[in-house]
Amino acid sequence: MAHTTAPVEEKDLPDARIIDGKLFAERLREDIAAAVTNLESEHGLRPRLDVVMVGDNPASRIYVRNKRWQTELAGMDSVEHRLPGNVPESDLLALIGRLNDDSAVNGILVQLPLPSHIDEHKVITAISPEKDVDGFHVVNVGRLWIGADTRVPCTPYGCLLLLRDVLGDLKGKRALVLGRSNIVGKPMAALLLAEHCTVTIAHSKTEDLPARCREAEILVAAVGRAELVRGDWIKPGATVIDVGINRVRAPDRGAHQDGSPRSRLVGDVAFDEARRVAGAITPVPGGVGPMTIACLLRNTLIAAVRQNGLPEPAV
Ligand code: NAD
Repeated sequence: MAHTTAPVEEKDLPDARIIDGKLFAERLREDIAAAVTNLESEHGLRPRLDVVMVGDNPASRIYVRNKRWQTELAGMDSVEHRLPGNVPESDLLALIGRLNDDSAVNGILVQLPLPSHIDEHKVITAISPEKDVDGFHVVNVGRLWIGADTRVPCTPYGCLLLLRDVLGDLKGKRALVLGRSNIVGKPMAALLLAEHCTVTIAHSKTEDLPARCREAEILVAAVGRAELVRGDWIKPGATVIDVGINRVRAPDRGAHQDGSPRSRLVGDVAFDEARRVAGAITPVPGGVGPMTIACLLRNTLIAAVRQNGLPEPAV
């Protein structure tokens, strides 16, 4: 097909730095693996992460398999507990109780979402805060907000590591967190506040979202709406962290054998527009995603050393 205008080539675009979360996470995992080797040789301690999965959600199965694989690659023990989708809540709570009491277990992660007959909050609250490697327990959430030492939720902590890597000191920066979930938006805001940013939390009821976004030197998008954030919502030179993972139809990629269109992953930010305006931006995939598991491994390692009264490794 003839083009009436020349297609815009990548080389014509100004240089937004593409933040390579995959590479950063790889290095972090190597540092963690080295620290695990030292821990075992010097103290005979091998960190162990127990993952509990209820039911057979296909996405959860992939996440759990991936977590197990990465945990073992880092030299830690990984134990999986699979419970049927109709398991009584009391059985799940009893399992968590046993894992809490078992000194060989350093980290406990219950894969979410849980079936609707189980009270998620009750389950998370049943995990010992010291073994809560997801950082979702209300005690850890409270510790985070008062600036005390805590288990920090993995995805926001991964975003913070990337931001520090790009910007160095974050003090005084105007940050906007788009999304107010308990697992990403709120803890992200708490972490940025602890870095002395001036933080705004925006959400589905925020008025004039584009204008609020344009004020931000740091923009973290965690909404789960494909390409909601457009290029002209971004302050020129801003650092953009895209947490969103959205699967969209991609007819340009052809069709599966059954005729259904192929799909691809996009973030909450319209990447091709945003990269022309931003100073630095994470891609999807390959940005925040790989950081989440790396930070889970870090939390497990730190939980293990603290539970055993050992000095914390610098990872
Ligand atoms: P959530 O659904 O719990 O929360 C979404 C938030 O976005 C809510 O606070 C809501 O107010 C806000 N929101 C929704 N629509 C909006 C709109 N139109 N305008 C402004 N705000 C709006 O989601 P979550 O669990 O925080 O996850 C958000 C995204 O991040 C999802 O795409 C999820 O898949 C992804 N995620 C990625 C990772 C990772 O490892 N990269 C980890 C967790 C979540």
